[in-house]
Amino acid sequence: MTIPVIHSQDARDPRYDILFEPVRIGPVTAPNRFYQVPHCNGMGREYPSSMAEMRGIKAEGGWGVVCTEQVEIHPSSELSPVIEGRLWDDADLPVFQKMCEKIHAHGALAGIEPCYDGTAAANRYSREVPMGPSARPVAYMDPVQARAMDATDIRNLRRWYVDAARRARRAGFDIIYVYAGHDLNALSHFLSRRHNDRGDAYGGSLENRVRLLREVLEDTKAAVGDTCGIALRFGVEELLGDDGLSSEAEGRDVVEMLAEYPDLWDVNLSGWENDSMTSRFAAQGFQDSYVSFVKKVTQKPVVGVGRYTSPDAMVSLIRSGALDLIGAARPSIADPFLPRKVAEGRLDDIRECIGCNICVSADYLSVPMRCTQNPTMGEEWRRGWHPEYIPPRHADASVLVVGAGPAGLETARALGQRGYGVTLAESGTVLGGRVAMERRLPGLSEWGRVADWRQYQIAQMPNVETYLDSRLNAEQVLDFAADHVVLATGARWCPSGMGRANHAPIPVEPGAVVLTPDDICAGAEVAGPVVIFDDDHYYIGGLTAEVLRAKGLEVTLVTPAADVSNWTHNTLEQHRIQKRLIEAGVKIIPLHTITEREADNVTLECVYTEREHHIACATLIMVSMRRPIDGLYHDLQTLIASGAAGPKTLTRVGDCLAPGTIAVAVWSGHRFARELGAPPEDTVPFRRELPALAQD
Ligand code: ADP
Ligand code: SF4
Repeated sequence: MTIPVIHSQDARDPRYDILFEPVRIGPVTAPNRFYQVPHCNGMGREYPSSMAEMRGIKAEGGWGVVCTEQVEIHPSSELSPVIEGRLWDDADLPVFQKMCEKIHAHGALAGIEPCYDGTAAANRYSREVPMGPSARPVAYMDPVQARAMDATDIRNLRRWYVDAARRARRAGFDIIYVYAGHDLNALSHFLSRRHNDRGDAYGGSLENRVRLLREVLEDTKAAVGDTCGIALRFGVEELLGDDGLSSEAEGRDVVEMLAEYPDLWDVNLSGWENDSMTSRFAAQGFQDSYVSFVKKVTQKPVVGVGRYTSPDAMVSLIRSGALDLIGAARPSIADPFLPRKVAEGRLDDIRECIGCNICVSADYLSVPMRCTQNPTMGEEWRRGWHPEYIPPRHADASVLVVGAGPAGLETARALGQRGYGVTLAESGTVLGGRVAMERRLPGLSEWGRVADWRQYQIAQMPNVETYLDSRLNAEQVLDFAADHVVLATGARWCPSGMGRANHAPIPVEPGAVVLTPDDICAGAEVAGPVVIFDDDHYYIGGLTAEVLRAKGLEVTLVTPAADVSNWTHNTLEQHRIQKRLIEAGVKIIPLHTITEREADNVTLECVYTEREHHIACATLIMVSMRRPIDGLYHDLQTLIASGAAGPKTLTRVGDCLAPGTIAVAVWSGHRFARELGAPPEDTVPFRRELPALAQD
């Protein structure tokens, strides 16, 4: 039975009707223009029930097409330990059947993205020799080379694609991709002069380099095109000038050569770091100027992405003839119910992606995806967390939440949704905690959505009361006599220099100036030269350097890592951050720690040789660790231990418990709210997906 995608359209603004028009994709029809393009999720073959449930919820949320991540089609091409989909033989079918059933149950189409990684993969699991257009080292830093495919290999590869397409159809997929994007697979590598130096009919001229892609398209169409839509995902622009495909030259030529071959063009920037740029480096719609030519070249429908969260922007893309379908990966992760909210006239309820790429980091680290804005992402199956529904309160109880950063706001919001009587007390004059400060840093304004969305939600709830300018001490908390007290009082950067590299405070000569990012965010006066010691490795050290350099100060960033903001490799940003700092004139000293702060300089020590040298420094900024603001918690414990009447539960969440990312803080608050009143767990707190033991 097919359940309509959209349940209640009564309140829909007719301006958005166009977004709910069906779109024909070859022999199938998408019920609307909301299209979840393929995206990795760190679940795939390892956590298939989690993956299937997550995809099903996207369909429930109104996405008219819901696709898989890239799906490996042969053991000679696999990205282990990165967790992708896998369709090697019929044994893999049940996973995809389950996914398709969940998507179809809501009337959406299911799409699959078969992929042959080629020289992008080292085959760490299968140990097969990788193959690509030319003999080259594999993309990852493994000491492994791929061999060049010969004519037999190419015939085999074409057959594997056909086998995968037939299997995919049997699993229930409606749309089968031919994937030649992101510089991550053999089909895109054959196209590329950088990767392909063959002298046969598959190398040399663009005509030759495009041959394999055209053959795979034709094969796939012949095999399953009578019942399945065939989508071509293609990176039209690599931002590499003459070295790469571009929307001015070869990228455009490929679209012209293959214009009517697929049933759908799914076009974007390539590689992944260009396609999924963070909001720090690119605004909504950043791909438009590169992909807008495609619709002028083909009669077939076109889907494109650009971190679209605004329905007005979506409508204008359709009306201007730039796209036929609004593609989304991250906006659908941050809000799986975005289309339904548009359909139901609830635009203010849309939880907009902030463009932080925490979702990407999980895939990079081979764990189930998570999202800063959507704490239920990846938890749909294993914890049973639905993004929109939450069980009602367990009792008629009152909750005092102290601190309105990401953790406190999400705690109050989710408790409010459950129906508790909630009081949220914040010592500052605005809501948002660290987000209220960090959103003012260059490029982070969209991060403010973490606070804005929750503030709006809470404002709609008569059972949640918010008090600003209300710093509470332990006596006041107890006087409030709430049934439950949650402390979300956050953390502050620590000026000691202790952290990963230094296990004791760095000696500081009296009078020497030492500040932290909190001081910079608060607008402290800073004298140069400035030395920033970044042993945190995420964004704040690099951003502090950017801010101070922009004020004309001489800035040196010292880090024990090999490069600046090293963890941002996981968010696809590191190269852009390093480039920006170099171009701004920030001096970078990697592989050094700081061992002493004298009056006018600091002592640096090489992490390998322990050799020391000194550099001039008027202001040292320590970015090495944060300390929880948990004095209130300890004061409360002391009062309660000495006989004062306390609440039924006293709980710390977010940075007050253990400083982490904003995503961790939001998740921590959400978890508390979900679990209030549930029996305590002393076992594994979620369902697991265990490997099946072989019969023999
Ligand atoms: P998290 O990321 O865990 O949410 P933040 O540091 O972003 O933590 O937010 C903590 C918030 O708690 C800040 O806005 C801070 O002003 C507030 N806060 C800290 N101590 C108190 C207190 N005693 N009473 C009320 N609010 C507090
Ligand atoms: Fe958007 Fe960040 Fe969520 Fe990814 S983790 S979907 S970038 S808010």
